Amino acid sequence: AKQQHHGFRRFSPDTAMESADRLTLLGDLRRALTDTEQFTLHYQAKIRLDTGELVGVEALARWSHPTKGPIPPGQFIPVLETTSLIHPFTERVLTIALQQARGWLNSGHRVPVAVNLSTRSLLDETFPDRLATLLDATGVPGDLLCIEITEHTVLADPSTTIEALNQVRALGVKTSIDDFGTGYSSMTYLKLLPVDELKIDRSFVADMVTDPSSHALVAAAVDLAHNLGLTVVAEGVEDAATADALNKLSCDTAQGYHFARPVPAPELAQRFLAVLS
Ligand code: C2E
Ligand code: CA
Ligand code: CA
Ligand code: CA
Repeated sequence: AKQQHHGFRRFSPDTAMESADRLTLLGDLRRALTDTEQFTLHYQAKIRLDTGELVGVEALARWSHPTKGPIPPGQFIPVLETTSLIHPFTERVLTIALQQARGWLNSGHRVPVAVNLSTRSLLDETFPDRLATLLDATGVPGDLLCIEITEHTVLADPSTTIEALNQVRALGVKTSIDDFGTGYSSMTYLKLLPVDELKIDRSFVADMVTDPSSHALVAAAVDLAHNLGLTVVAEGVEDAATADALNKLSCDTAQGYHFARPVPAPELAQRFLAVLS
């Protein structure tokens, strides 16, 4: 879970320890960014609910710390986001994802790849140019890339967000609102946002079969998305009953452990792209 601190923090041996840990982590992250091995991406299948076919993948960052082993993104990305280290990190993630999309293209597969983008990266005014350069260098068509941003990004600075999303879309790149339903901005900004897709947060999907109010919220989000001409994705689908319920609501696509966990690229290809050796 994200560590968030509200208000003033009393100085205590505990917080001193915590900030020492944070500095160590930042030092390790800085070193990790000069290494080509420590950061990798796993890919989670995105499945069309009515046919079961693969419609794309989401790239999820993985950090293999040289002595501490795997550190989950929820632990290190919020720390990266507090510094400008997030920029080289974003560049790294986009580079790996686009090189992977290029590799799949070379073996005859058009696999759209979605990448999560930190607020700070999207709001960086040099971002659209960097993205254009990366697309150019890898020769990946813009429409094979999707940028996922959260509702929280939109709230941080709506007008800059809209401008940045327009620049991204001018490259042919798709845009998606992640964790939909958790940001309270839904109604106000959805109409104005240049986005192609809406991802319903896992917290609503997880118990939609057992909790009528979650079911109602998911149903409303699907209708809202469709009425705005957006594709809708449900995340965190863990069982067949949930997949069925979503299909009945005409939700377009889904992700979750029921279909596939995030895995390294070769595993994803083996399972979904039927790559012959
Ligand atoms: P997210 O974008 O909402 O990604 C979905 C998270 O849910 C992933 O966790 C995924 O492994 C997990 N998940 C997928 N299916 C299921 C399921 O059926 N059940 C459950 N319980 N969980 C499921 P992960 O990989 O730990 O990533 C956590 C978050 O870290 C992501 O949430 C995203 O916000 C952030 N993140 C990951 N990679 C990147 C990155 O490259 N850049 C940025 N800025 N953020 C990233
Ligand atoms: Ca995401
Ligand atoms: Ca999400
Ligand atoms: Ca999330």
